[in-house]
Amino acid sequence: MSQPRITFIGAGNMAASLIGGLRAQGVPAERIQASDPGAECRERIAAEHGIATFESNHEAVSGADIVVLSVKPQVMKAVCQDLAGSLPEQALIVSIAAGISCASLENWLGPRALVRCMPNTPSLVRQGVSGLYANPQVSTEQRQQTEQLLSAVGLALWLDEEVLIDAVTAVSGSGPAYFFLMMQAMTSAGEALGLPRETAALLAAHTALGAGRMACESGVAPDELRRRVTSPNGTTEAAIKAFQAGGFEPLVEQAVRAAAQRSAELA
Ligand code: NAP
Repeated sequence: MSQPRITFIGAGNMAASLIGGLRAQGVPAERIQASDPGAECRERIAAEHGIATFESNHEAVSGADIVVLSVKPQVMKAVCQDLAGSLPEQALIVSIAAGISCASLENWLGPRALVRCMPNTPSLVRQGVSGLYANPQVSTEQRQQTEQLLSAVGLALWLDEEVLIDAVTAVSGSGPAYFFLMMQAMTSAGEALGLPRETAALLAAHTALGAGRMACESGVAPDELRRRVTSPNGTTEAAIKAFQAGGFEPLVEQAVRAAAQRSAELA
């Protein structure tokens, strides 16, 4: 597979983490470029990663094989309408903007190969997970190139239907906040039991990290992992019973459904 030339439109947090991931994977700096209106932002990303940067989006997309739209959703329409005439005909467009559908992108850019992607914030520490949807114009090679791009910051999973992006948004897009909420609650509970807050916060965060790694790396399903640490009449069982009595599982389902519904409304 030839190394595509990748242009990022918008060089903010997500673009910086993707560029850092690509460089760490050995993608040469000459194959990556970025545009951004902020001079400071351009200087920072150029100094950190050795890539060419542009103030003009039009100049940045010249000769690109993949154009990653990494601007905020609210400026996407204006950016796309302005760029439509300058995009190389064969270039694949990858949008990472939340709530912007392929239909809107096609409306603004004309019919072309598009990938819509929903990453999450742990991409910033290269532990992200992304759901990807490709429209029918995307070639097999372009799919592989997109996978290479997103797997630079974590796991990339293809979806068969665009509508599933709302479910991805609800589970993994917003998901880090659910775990942060859990950590916050566990920290306060630990503090209430007498632990210094800082100690309780470290215990909660590292427990989340360890549990996440076990769930990802052991090949064992979470319910079995849970059973293995739940001895009859023990401490974990006492806690799980309290969670269940409070309706923990239906509450999580309700929360995830609310996020999916909001995602659909925003698109
Ligand atoms: P960000 O840090 O604000 O980056 C966006 C960059 O685009 C900023 O540097 C902004 O410059 C620049 N920009 C504004 N107008 C522009 C234009 N006309 N042409 C080129 N660049 C322009 O945002 P982010 O957190 O990286 O998010 C980028 C996208 O990723 C969003 O659409 C978001 O929905 C999506 N996303 C983010 C996350 C996440 O974890 N952060 C997760 C999932 C999806 P100024 O600051 O000067 O305006």
